[in-house]
Amino acid sequence: MIDCCSAPGLLPFEDALTNMLASIKPIAQNDCETIKIESALGRVLAQDISSPLNVPPHNNSAMDGYAFAFESLESTESLTLVGRSMAGQPFQGVCQAGQCIRIMTGAKMPAGCDTVEMQENCQVIEPDETAKFEKNTIKFLGKKSVGSHVRYAGEDINEGQHVLTAQHRLTTVDIGVLASLGIAKVKVMRKLTVALIATGDELKTPGQTLTEGDIFESNSFVLAAMLEKLNVNVIDFGVIEDDFQAIKAAFEQADIQADAVISSGGVSVGDADYTKSVLDELGEINFWKIAMKPGKPFAFGHLKNSIFFGLPGNPVSALVTFHQLALPALLKLQQCEVEKQISLQVKTTTDLRKSPGRMDFQRGVLSVNEQGENVVTSTGSQGSGILSSLSKANCYIVLPSCQGKVLAGENVTVQLFDHYLT
Ligand code: AMP
Ligand code: MG
Repeated sequence: MIDCCSAPGLLPFEDALTNMLASIKPIAQNDCETIKIESALGRVLAQDISSPLNVPPHNNSAMDGYAFAFESLESTESLTLVGRSMAGQPFQGVCQAGQCIRIMTGAKMPAGCDTVEMQENCQVIEPDETAKFEKNTIKFLGKKSVGSHVRYAGEDINEGQHVLTAQHRLTTVDIGVLASLGIAKVKVMRKLTVALIATGDELKTPGQTLTEGDIFESNSFVLAAMLEKLNVNVIDFGVIEDDFQAIKAAFEQADIQADAVISSGGVSVGDADYTKSVLDELGEINFWKIAMKPGKPFAFGHLKNSIFFGLPGNPVSALVTFHQLALPALLKLQQCEVEKQISLQVKTTTDLRKSPGRMDFQRGVLSVNEQGENVVTSTGSQGSGILSSLSKANCYIVLPSCQGKVLAGENVTVQLFDHYLT
């Protein structure tokens, strides 16, 4: 993307994303395992799936009622009942002209039948010894149409039809589709292992007691929750103090155990920011100042065995850089397709503060106003430490680098939060 508005010394967001993705080599295609479909939710498919059969496998009834040949009812309103077809227990004979078959929902259509009438539109006339009826007779009361209430073989999925593609993350419904095809096991990519490291002397874990100057650590919790949706194994290294040796030891351990290492905090140039000096010894890391807000400082590169993301410490910056940059990189690493984010152009109901130079991912609430139009409202203060602004929001208001302040009533681009964030 051509971006001539990024402030000097800052890397345009799109360039950071493109550079990063270009340097990531996905895990090998054959680094996969075969597992039961009941354990496959959220896993990334390592094979294409084609249907081995028609779904449904046979023409069947969509209603409880009576099946017959439509032609039979052209000259009469009544047909003789000669048998029944139940789900799993089909009628074995052939239904002749003038006859009908009792049929239940899901039961195979008997030979000779092309139409079903639901039982609510039928009247059963009991056999009468003195009259001509020897068997039950069914009187058809409603308006009939040929082929009604029949579900045809293959109308859901045809035999041989392509159903799912490798690199697709299996959803709840996909598991059902696989079951309907009779597929008990699938080949999926192996699970990635991701190490999480929070750095900072001031950080306490929820459950501990805060002493003066401390805050509760939240980054590793929100990141672990998002990683769960990516279906990776997480190794949580907890909080590491602002100490060169301690950080180095943690990064080395993490590199041995994980495919990707994610740290938060300490990526700026403050007195207690050791990430850079540690990584200078351990790997090839680029420290980027990205023209995005929140999230200017961001480190990305490779350790001996793993890829490394150094997220900023501020909770909103950590989350937004993870979501916008690290997440697509991890998807590529795990051989998973990247879904296009859904963006809309809508009016903002509030003024938006912005100066040119960085791409903003402001937090907004997309809603429908009284006129039925989609509009977006800022969540208010956009400070990079205000995590509640993200929890109230349901979308980003994406303002390009060149953009200055926006007035209420103007159109802006919003990007809906995806399932990783909600
Ligand atoms: P740093 O990037 O280490 O300079 O941290 C920037 C800000 O983010 C500071 O206010 C930190 O206290 C805060 N911060 C750093 N790490 C975390 C964390 N894991 N959870 C919550 N806040 C954090
Ligand atoms: Mg720090």
